[in-house]
Amino acid sequence: MITDIAVERVEFRCPESHWQSVVDYDVVTYADADGAEFEFYSTDGVPTLSPYTIDGAPLCPVCHRAVVGTPVARRLIPVPPGDDGRPRQPVSDGEAHRAQRRNMPLLPARSDEVTPPAGAEAETATTPQPDAP
Ligand SMILES: [Zn+2]
Repeated sequence: MITDIAVERVEFRCPESHWQSVVDYDVVTYADADGAEFEFYSTDGVPTLSPYTIDGAPLCPVCHRAVVGTPVARRLIPVPPGDDGRPRQPVSDGEAHRAQRRNMPLLPARSDEVTPPAGAEAETATTPQPDAP
């Protein structure tokens, strides 16, 4: 049984400030018949290991250290069927229902990665600055 669905924004920062990235993970929590809970992570529809573990941590492209993620934001997705009266939309015609969704572009989980130039402050490299007037 699915007990929780959320999108979690995870930040990765190389401890040597070589590289940083922000990735949105889809996280589904599932309880099996014995009540044991498991979390399933994915990005862009592809199953992944937990970004909060060494095994699931990406490597800094410069120094190749594993960079364990830090959660920075979370958006809960209500699990159906939910309480009575919760809005819902019947799907009566299967394949034809909102057929345009099959051709929609991927909503990417990953922001642009930032590798600050040598000597630059990592803090300022994360925020794109508008062009000067
Ligand atoms: Zn590094």
